[in-house]
Amino acid sequence: MNVLTNIRKNSLYRHRYLSLLVIAVTVLSLWQIGKWSREAALGDLQEANRQELHRYVQHLQGKLEKYEFLPGVLATNKRLVHLLQNPSDRERIEALNRYLETLNQLTGTSDIYLMDAEGLTVAASNWASERPFVGANFSYRPYFQEAMKGHLGRYFALGTTSNKRGYYFAYPVRWEKKILGAVVIKINMAPIENSWGVSDDELLVTDPDGVVFITTRKEWRYRTLSPLKPKVLNRIRGSRRYADEPITNLPIRTETRWEGNRIVRIGEADRQEYLVQEAAMPHAGWQVHILSRLEPVNQQVLRVVLFAAILFLAVLLLVLFLTQRRHRSREIARLERQSKETLVSRVKEQTRDITEANISLTREIEQHRQTESELQQTQNELIQSAKLAVIGQMSTGISHELNQPLAAMRSYADNALTLFQRDRREEVEWNLLQISKLTERMAQISSQLKVFSRKTAGRKSEVSVIAVIEDSLRLLSSRIKQTRIEWEPPSEQLYVLANMVQLEQVLVNLIGNALHAVDGATEPFVSIKASRSRDGRCVSIRIRDNGEGIPVNLLERIFDPFFTTKEEGQGLGLGLSISLRIVEAMDGKLEASNQSRIGALFSIELPAVALPESA
Ligand code: ADP
Repeated sequence: MNVLTNIRKNSLYRHRYLSLLVIAVTVLSLWQIGKWSREAALGDLQEANRQELHRYVQHLQGKLEKYEFLPGVLATNKRLVHLLQNPSDRERIEALNRYLETLNQLTGTSDIYLMDAEGLTVAASNWASERPFVGANFSYRPYFQEAMKGHLGRYFALGTTSNKRGYYFAYPVRWEKKILGAVVIKINMAPIENSWGVSDDELLVTDPDGVVFITTRKEWRYRTLSPLKPKVLNRIRGSRRYADEPITNLPIRTETRWEGNRIVRIGEADRQEYLVQEAAMPHAGWQVHILSRLEPVNQQVLRVVLFAAILFLAVLLLVLFLTQRRHRSREIARLERQSKETLVSRVKEQTRDITEANISLTREIEQHRQTESELQQTQNELIQSAKLAVIGQMSTGISHELNQPLAAMRSYADNALTLFQRDRREEVEWNLLQISKLTERMAQISSQLKVFSRKTAGRKSEVSVIAVIEDSLRLLSSRIKQTRIEWEPPSEQLYVLANMVQLEQVLVNLIGNALHAVDGATEPFVSIKASRSRDGRCVSIRIRDNGEGIPVNLLERIFDPFFTTKEEGQGLGLGLSISLRIVEAMDGKLEASNQSRIGALFSIELPAVALPESA
C-alpha cells in the first residue's frame, strides 16, 4: 500500500516538475522569440527610418544649398554697392527695394535685404509691407557679424519683426576690399515643416544648443532636448534667436538603447515609445532627429509572440495527445495482458478444480455403481429369498395338490391294469385318458412354480393385470380352501408396464397375507378388484379381506424389512418391504390401510399403458 502511495507521489511530483519545466521553457522561449522579433522589427524600422532621415536631411540640405550662393551673387551687384556708397539716395533706395522685391518673388525666398556696415537695413524686399525691415537695425544678429568679418554668415532665428522662423544667409558687400555692408536673404522654414507633417514619425531639427525649432509636433517647438545651463539660456535670449518665445525643457526619458540609438518616452501624457535616430547637418550646425513610434513594432512582437504561443500550445497539445494515446494504448495492452493472464490462471484453476471434481465424481459414480450393483444384488437376493419363503409356504399346498392327482393317477393306473387284464379296452382307454389329463395338470402346476422361482432381471413389458391376478390366484389355489374369493375381471383389458414375475410376486404376497389374515374367520373372504382411474392414467388393484386388520400402531412398520407378526417359521417379514420396492421401481404406489368396519385394504397403483399390438 505504502509502496503504491510512494509510486503515485513520485509520479505526481515528476508530473509537477515536468509541467513546471515545460512552462518555464515555454515562457523563456516566448520571451526569446519576442526579443528576436523585436530586434528584427527594430532593425527593419531602423533601416527604413535611416533612409527616411537621410531623405529629410537631403531635403533640408538641398533647400539651404539652393539659396546659399544667392547672397554671394547679389553682393556682386553694383546697385547694392552704389546704394551703400550713397545711402541717402532715395531714388536708388526705391529702385533697389523694387529690385529686391522682384528677386524675392522669383527665387521664393522669404526676404532679401541690404544692411550697411552699422547693421541698419537700407533696402528690403518687404519695403511695401506693413512691417518693413527698412530702417531696422539687425547688427546683433550673428549672421551680420559673420558677414562683416568677410564670411558667409548663416543663422537660424525667429524673425523679430516678421515672427517667422527663418534661415539667414548674409554675405559681405565689398568695394575695393572694403566691406560696405551685407546682403541678407531669409528663407522661411515653416513650409518645410508643413511638408514633413504627413509622416507617422515625428521629426525634429535642433540647433547647436539642442533647441527644437522645426518639428512635426507644434507643442515641441522651442523646447530643448536636455535642460540648458542658465548661461546658455542667457546667450540665446541675448541673441534673440527665438525672439520672446519661452524656451523650456522637453521631458525626454531614455528607456533603453538599441544599437546606439535611444528608445525614449516623451512627456508624462504621451505613453508612446520612440526609437530616436539622428543625423548631423554640420554646415548649418543642426541635428535632425527622426522619432519612430514603436507601437507597430510592439504590435508585431505581440503578434509573433501570440502566434508562437498558439503554435507552442498546439505542439504541446499534440505531444500531450500523442503521449496520452501512447499511455492509454500501453495501459490497454497492459490490462489486456493482465486480464489474459488472470483468465488463463483462472481457467487453469477452474480446469484443475473441474478435473479434480471430475475425478472425485468419477470415483463417486464408481463407488455408487458398486453400491448400487451391490444393492441390486442384495435386493435381488432378498426378492429371491422372499420368493423362496413364499414357495416354502406354498409347498404344503403344492405337495397336497400334486399328491391328489398322483393318488388319482395310481388308482386310475391300477384300474386300467385290472380292466386291461379283463380286456375291457374301452374302460382302460378312459382310465389312461384320465391319467394323461392329470399329468397335464401336474405339468401346469410345476411349470408355474418354475416360472415363479426363476431369478429374473428387472426387464419390463406391457403386462395384463387381469392375467397376472388370475395367475397369482392359480398359484395360491392350494391355500384358498374355504376362503371365498371375490374376483370379477373388469370388462376392459388393463395393461401396465412391469416385470410380470415381480408383479405376480407382489400379488401373491398381498393375496397370501390376506388369506393368512382371514384364516380362522367364520366366513373368510378376500376381494380383489382391478380398475382404471378416472383420468385413465393409472390402474389400481385393491385387495381387501375380512381379517382382523392391521393394528394402528403397526401401520407404519409393516413395510419395514423383517417385520412380522406371524409365528416363527410362518413368515420372514420381507414380503411387504420387497413388494413396496418392486412397485416403486415400476413408478407405482403401494399403500396399506384398515377398512372402516373390518379387515385390511392393500392398494396398488401403477401407470397405465396403451394396449400392446401383440395383445
Ligand atoms: P410376513 O408375511 O412374513 O409377516 P409381510 O411383510 O408380508 O411379512 O407382512 C408383515 C406383517 O404385516 C405381517 O406379519 C402382518 O402382521 C401384517 N399384515 C400383512 N398383511 C396383512 C393383512 N391382510 N391383515 C392383517 N395384517 C397384515
